[in-house]
Amino acid sequence: MESKPKMENSFEAKGLRSHYIANLSLDDVGERVAICGWVARVREHGEHLVFVDVRDRTGLVQVVAHSSVDLRSEYVVQVNGLVSRRPVGTENPALATGEIELVETEIEILSPADPIPFSVQDRSEVDEATRLRFRYLDLRRDRMQENLRMRAKINSAIRASMERQGFTEIETPLLWTPTPEGAREFVVPSRLHPGLTYVLPQSPQIAKQLLMVAGFDRYYQIARCLRDEDLRADRQFEFTQLDLEASFVTQRDIMSFISDAVIAASAAAGISVDHEIGEITWRDSMDKYGVDKPDLRYGNELIDVTQVFSETSVRALSAPCLKALVAPYPSHLSRSKLDDLVDRAKGLGAKGLLWLRVVSDTDGVRLDSPVSKFLTDQESKDLIAATGVSEGDVILIVGDEWAKACQVLGQLRIDLAKSEADPRAYKFVWVVDFPLFEGVDEDGRLISAHHPFTMPNEEDFPKLDTDPLSVRSQSYDLVLNGWELGSGSIRIHRRDIQSKIFSLLGIGSEEANNRFGFLLEAFKYGAPPHGGFAFGIDRLAALLVGEENIREVIAFPKTQSGSDLMTGAPKEVENKVWDLLGLSVRPQKKDLS
Ligand code: ASP
Repeated sequence: MESKPKMENSFEAKGLRSHYIANLSLDDVGERVAICGWVARVREHGEHLVFVDVRDRTGLVQVVAHSSVDLRSEYVVQVNGLVSRRPVGTENPALATGEIELVETEIEILSPADPIPFSVQDRSEVDEATRLRFRYLDLRRDRMQENLRMRAKINSAIRASMERQGFTEIETPLLWTPTPEGAREFVVPSRLHPGLTYVLPQSPQIAKQLLMVAGFDRYYQIARCLRDEDLRADRQFEFTQLDLEASFVTQRDIMSFISDAVIAASAAAGISVDHEIGEITWRDSMDKYGVDKPDLRYGNELIDVTQVFSETSVRALSAPCLKALVAPYPSHLSRSKLDDLVDRAKGLGAKGLLWLRVVSDTDGVRLDSPVSKFLTDQESKDLIAATGVSEGDVILIVGDEWAKACQVLGQLRIDLAKSEADPRAYKFVWVVDFPLFEGVDEDGRLISAHHPFTMPNEEDFPKLDTDPLSVRSQSYDLVLNGWELGSGSIRIHRRDIQSKIFSLLGIGSEEANNRFGFLLEAFKYGAPPHGGFAFGIDRLAALLVGEENIREVIAFPKTQSGSDLMTGAPKEVENKVWDLLGLSVRPQKKDLS
């Protein structure tokens, strides 16, 4: 029997089946076909007959069978039957195959199934622990089938974009040596070298830089990376990223390679986004949104009102920086909600939060607030003008150092607007000009904001000695709807600059040689200027399919405490395994935290 594929991107049915279910239609009426799949439902149908819904990866079809066949949900069957038009009035428009059914059937049970712990067929809520314990059943459900198939399409669109742009896919080792992203690493003891370990890569960072020295020019990989960090909704021990590196390019070139890939990935998921992804500097992002990953689905930028109160005698308004936010959805802000906001601001580290409601009466617009009587008329007028408010609006003000005032108000902006943001809007934005260093550790050593191979902004070279914390780097993040999707940088390929940065980071030449000696050595043999980027595919896929948790786009994820509820990993191993590795284990507390 030959199949007549009608599915989009269809492929030939082989083996035990003549057709995939979705390929069956009125065109096949009168033809005998063989389908394979799982029993979705069995319903009585008059005397001696049952309706059996059979499901495969493509769809569902109704099969009319003798009630003598003992079939139950999730049995695996092969059905041979005659395609027949359903009697008039019994068609099911909700089903792609709703105009036909299989009759005169022979059903072979290929594999019976025990009663299943939850329904695979409906969308009823099942608690996550049960879903993860029986993940293979959870994966049979529509939601996970759709998510993982969409993820595959996204991957394939990303690969196509990379290939189109001249990138070569190269795999790099999993058993590797420490990499510099700064997270805790998974170590793998070596059996052949007792006492020594490999480290699982946090990213292919060093390997891809070596591939540039090797002359590959444009490298990419859909790479698995591993970081031994506490898990959250957007984090797993192992995650997948599009990793790329290119030589003889600028920051703008890398941004355009990546923009092409994410736009292609979005299109694969049926989402069209702006073809010009906008950009904002880190400083502006902090200043306007209080975060370095702004959610641009809503406006409500922070406004600097320090000048308005330069002469004030009010203590709460005497601060180095005063930032104001015109609250989104002011009608939601009852007096008690405003009190909650004040507590929230204090919880975020602010000394306080002032709120002012804009009201109008016969004298015109005025501000109603516990502090309004301490404001001069001019200050009230200037504040109204600076914030552009009108009746009904609520102004929130935090006074503090610039960074703190921005951060607190930025968080309130998210708290107030996020739940109302359009989940189907996709706002990508590049954040550029990050600081090279994010601060200083307890020993007075500067801390890299990205990693130690990030090139400083050339204009800021002179400030490396005088004011290193103000030095900008040639690094850039890609942000989508308030999530940091990934980051990258132009790398240091010159040894003099690298030594300078290592010394500022407090990495002595011995330590640098121990940790990255092989990279520094490689750089002696002709290193091209290069740069790269990596973005998380788990996160991108979750956002594009509209899931909040990345576990919904991962086939076999771990729980929040790092366990695999299906396999029971992590598990104890027999003592002989430790012996073989030359290791012994101290008794441990069971607590995994
Ligand atoms: N290795 C970096 C990371 O994984 C990305 C990059 O700089 O290319 O975050």
